[in-house]
Amino acid sequence: MAINPHASSPFAALADELTQRRADHLYRQRPLLQSPQGPVVTVAGRTLNNFCSNDYLGLAHHPALVAAAREAVAQWGVGSGASHLVCGHQQPHQDAEDALAAFVGKPAALTFATGYLGNLAVITGLVGREDAVFADKLNHASLNDACLLSRATFKRYAHNNLTQLAHLLANTPARRKLIVADAVFSMDGDQAPLAELLALAEAHDAWLFIDDAHGFGVLGEGRGAMAAAGLDSPRIVYLATLGKAAGGAGAFVAAEAVVIDYLINHARPYIYTTAAPALLGAVTQASLRVIQTEPERRVALQAHIELLRVRLLAAGVALMPSSTPIQPVLMPDSATALAASQALRQRGHWVAAIRPPTVPMPRLRITLSAAHNTATVAQLADDLIEILRDLPAMPGGAAAPGDPA
Ligand SMILES: *Cc1c(COP(=O)(O)O)cnc(C)c1O
Repeated sequence: MAINPHASSPFAALADELTQRRADHLYRQRPLLQSPQGPVVTVAGRTLNNFCSNDYLGLAHHPALVAAAREAVAQWGVGSGASHLVCGHQQPHQDAEDALAAFVGKPAALTFATGYLGNLAVITGLVGREDAVFADKLNHASLNDACLLSRATFKRYAHNNLTQLAHLLANTPARRKLIVADAVFSMDGDQAPLAELLALAEAHDAWLFIDDAHGFGVLGEGRGAMAAAGLDSPRIVYLATLGKAAGGAGAFVAAEAVVIDYLINHARPYIYTTAAPALLGAVTQASLRVIQTEPERRVALQAHIELLRVRLLAAGVALMPSSTPIQPVLMPDSATALAASQALRQRGHWVAAIRPPTVPMPRLRITLSAAHNTATVAQLADDLIEILRDLPAMPGGAAAPGDPA
């Protein structure tokens, strides 16, 4: 008789679900890095060109940030010891908040240990049962989780569909209305129509919450998507994370002083958690200095984006409408996405295959960094073109290069 090793386990149902995930090519594992974050990393003993981190400016291992962390840890120690409201709010936290608010041109800012936590805090802090949130369908998972946790009425509009959003706003009885969108969509690389979203917020007396995790440091001379669009309004509540282009960790929300004060008083995910180590505040300040004094990093990044797109498009590879460092290539199914990622890895490039349920359509998600060198970006493009030739085409004609028309 065959023995099911899980039959007697109280977790047999979980094991069965994982087995099914494997069969569907949706099983996840964590690749183990044996090097610092950077354009070239060591993974499971192999050296690979890293095209899947969000370290867009190459700051994660920048000497100025490392030095700031080292000096701060010597002065402030490691643990903050308590939540911000009790006794964990230290001078480097406050200095980072002041610098961040000034940098993005808002009256006040508040920092969090992660972007996930920041999104939970802002949305659950600002809206509740009597209110409504209006969210883009492609928003980051942390925004969706925050909307659910807020208990506000949760309406999702089709990606960037302003007509549908206007209709939803016009037909809500809610006390407060909060529009929520990624500025740069994390898995697609395209951008929200910020001016139009702000106009709708004004027309319907709503608030606009923008998550600029992928724009901060990159767009608008580093000041982010709002600065790039030339938009400023007290209605805008702006959040950016500090673990991507900024090269450190955490996140901040910047807004009117009353909004920040309200969050300090009401946002449970801010109140009931231990403050991040103060050294991260020092890292944030160092990062802001580099973002402002080394504009050549954004110039290099932009050149890499253009090089990759021009080469791939010239070879007939279908790209998405993205001018950001996130350059996805759609795949017909999860198995093909994994095969393409594996084939790239054999050629020394690390590109993540992103699959459902993270995204509706499987894809390779290429991310570029200022720290890459030009020849490596060109090599990635050439290798990808060759690999796509041997893979099944996208249904509906998003053709692999070399496919008959
Ligand atoms: C990464 C990301 C977050 C979460 O930020 P963390 O600091 O990684 O927790 C939130 N929103 C978007 C759009 C993101 O891409």
